[in-house]
Amino acid sequence: MRVGIIGGGQLGRMMALAGYPLGVATQVLEPAADCPAGQVTGVLPRDYHDPDALAQLARESDVITYEFENVPVEPLRAVASSVAVYPPVEALAIAQDRLLEKKLFVELGMAVPRFAPVDSLTDLRAAIGEIGLPAVLKTRRLGYDGKGQAVIRDADGLEQAWRQVGARPCLLEQWVPFEHEAAIVAARARDGSIACYPLVETRHEDGILVQATAPSSNVTDDLQRDAETLAGRLLERLDYGGVIALELFVTSAGLLANEFAPRVHNSGHWTIEGATTSQFENHLRAVLGLPLGVPSAIGHSVMLNLIGSHPPIEQLAALPGSAIHLYGKIPRPGRKIGHITIRAADPETLATRLNAAQAILRSS
Ligand code: AMP
Repeated sequence: MRVGIIGGGQLGRMMALAGYPLGVATQVLEPAADCPAGQVTGVLPRDYHDPDALAQLARESDVITYEFENVPVEPLRAVASSVAVYPPVEALAIAQDRLLEKKLFVELGMAVPRFAPVDSLTDLRAAIGEIGLPAVLKTRRLGYDGKGQAVIRDADGLEQAWRQVGARPCLLEQWVPFEHEAAIVAARARDGSIACYPLVETRHEDGILVQATAPSSNVTDDLQRDAETLAGRLLERLDYGGVIALELFVTSAGLLANEFAPRVHNSGHWTIEGATTSQFENHLRAVLGLPLGVPSAIGHSVMLNLIGSHPPIEQLAALPGSAIHLYGKIPRPGRKIGHITIRAADPETLATRLNAAQAILRSS
């Protein structure tokens, strides 16, 4: 079983590692041979915009998948005639454009923040009249981790926000006064069966995920059921294969859909130790046409991203219930270089361990 992965970052690395026990051979298509995934699996060191490189990956793989969203769609569509590509190219094309994504949510009857397309400063003025302030202006394409976004608090900030996002096609979105954020990670197998992980409570700083808790005491059975319903609709509509992550705002009026990622996701990293089957293994199972593994949680987990600088490994490793993952990346401000998952049998012990981990990270 050979899986070709487009992209060689940490998601590709953890996918490759999950393949070892299953006997799955992975190869990543990534121009930088010393990429995080290249340290643990084979690399095809070519450009993923190059149709010949994709054709070579196709010849050397039973199935092609991808670990990041900015994969060029047309070359991938072309190669999909000669090799199975999962998740489907349509899911990727929709996820690359916030307007198409929002329209799909609306088509599927999902509640979303109020939004309006914005192609000019004039549109922006009109959109603010419609949506109100505060609001957030987001580029339609190529935004991630809060990049390509500008919050507008008053009418004076409008021109600056337009410049800040590069005066390109955008969406204006109502600023949602959420209770908390959440993400549902789910897998759909090629035979249509679905496995949903417990809804994860997520916390972001400056648009970057910093903490993910699962299961969360803030997630009721009703919320879990609602999130699974939304994820199920999306998976069916896209005739999906693989893991998806649907990011949500939890509000007093229920769930609002924010965005989806057609890939394994940072909010699912806790599943490596914290679930019976990790998101990475379930993704491989799904794209290879194997039955899905059980997604249920083992105890209580919280994941903290390690961002910017090398953490004090010795102190973190001494924490009971901790699992450290470093991605082999050179630290840079704002760069995700690893994560730590902390586990416990009960929420009280988890809270104590989490406090200890946060104190270590704060003092480093
Ligand atoms: P996104 O890239 O759209 O997921 O945005 C990154 C983060 O910015 C989200 O996880 C939220 O923390 C915040 N954010 C984005 N859009 C909104 C919004 N409409 N209302 C409130 N917070 C938002």
